[in-house]
Amino acid sequence: MIRPIRVYPDPVLRVRCPEVTGFDEELARLVADMVETMHAAPGVGLAAPQVGVEQRVAVVDLSVGRDPESVLVLVNPVIEAAEGAEVDTEGCLSIPDFTDKVLRPLRLEVSAAGLDGERQAFVAEGFLARAICHEVDHLDGVLFVDHLRGLRRERAKRFLKKLAKEELAKEPSAKEEWEKEEPEDAGRLAPAAVERGRSEESGSEGRAPEERQWDEAPASR
Ligand SMILES: [Zn+2]
Repeated sequence: MIRPIRVYPDPVLRVRCPEVTGFDEELARLVADMVETMHAAPGVGLAAPQVGVEQRVAVVDLSVGRDPESVLVLVNPVIEAAEGAEVDTEGCLSIPDFTDKVLRPLRLEVSAAGLDGERQAFVAEGFLARAICHEVDHLDGVLFVDHLRGLRRERAKRFLKKLAKEELAKEPSAKEEWEKEEPEDAGRLAPAAVERGRSEESGSEGRAPEERQWDEAPASR
């Protein structure tokens, strides 16, 4: 079943999602729906909060449905190691009609559970690594625009403000709620993202994920 994709500024996109604990029918149904929704969009990746579910689940398929073998199901994914850096264009199904260039690691070591709860480790490179970073970010309430700097960030902020206005006009009841949470600066980092910087990166108290070292590194590293 295709589920509606949540669009910015839906607050569910800023939630740090809890881990999946039940590997059951409900999870299988969620994943099947997410794959169908991703293919229909069409997109190369989708995270559970993008369909309104606050759980650490993501799907990735660089073939966009052409190759059933290439569907990757990531439950409770963890990026164990990252190296290199590459700039490439990204977009997001939750931020329609906006793309920009984002610096991401070139190679990742990832571990994730499948539908059976069995954890597996694997290596991802290039665009697959990029897609996984993008989806894992979603599970922490981080959007790809949060990685932009300088003029690119300003451009993204202007776009997000316009998008927020359009989306909230469709649903006036959500407007008050959103204005409480995102005053003035629509492009700021969510508290959830800063929280991640504090809790997971020892010795870097209070640092936002955008300040991680590979994010600052020159593309040639
Ligand atoms: Zn996205």
